[in-house]
Amino acid sequence: MFGKGILKGLAQTGKQVVSKRLTEKYPEEKPHLPERWRGNTFALEKDKCISCGLCAMSCPNKVIRQKFDKDEDGKKICTEFVMERQYCLFCGLCVEACPKGCLHLTHDFETAVYSAADVPQDLLADNHLDAAISKYGEKPPLVKPVIPPKPAAAAPAAAKPAAEDAKGGEA
Ligand code: SF4
Ligand code: SF4
Repeated sequence: MFGKGILKGLAQTGKQVVSKRLTEKYPEEKPHLPERWRGNTFALEKDKCISCGLCAMSCPNKVIRQKFDKDEDGKKICTEFVMERQYCLFCGLCVEACPKGCLHLTHDFETAVYSAADVPQDLLADNHLDAAISKYGEKPPLVKPVIPPKPAAAAPAAAKPAAEDAKGGEA
């Protein structure tokens, strides 16, 4: 039939117009990122950090530059904490290794800069906690195991009521 293709095309277009939109109008609309999605900047809760250095030790690319010292009480403190993001794989191993859960990846992805000198992140100068923090590496809450109840012991056969016994005796 003449024009059949056009009608099919219009029907398809009409279907798409009324159907649910699956794409986002980035950059006008910001994408809805999953909670655990890993972006490419870091954030640090400095007051929780115990300067153990496990994050740096777990990094396969030696991205984390740390220096330590002792305060007047002899407590180990971190005096340098720089993420050399230009070498980072954003694998998240450092975040997973942190025993205090104080190192985070963020949801940042628009991180282009003009100068290479702006790529490393000095987390002591700016902890970057104002960013949207990724839940990646968060330990799930402990779930108590559900232990099924023991099957109830079989009840002993019910004794005949005394009255019934008595009736039986009379008959
Ligand atoms: S995300 Fe991976 S590569 Fe980047 S600093 Fe952490 S451990 Fe290193
Ligand atoms: S692993 Fe965590 S607590 Fe240890 S130095 Fe790194 S950020 Fe601080």
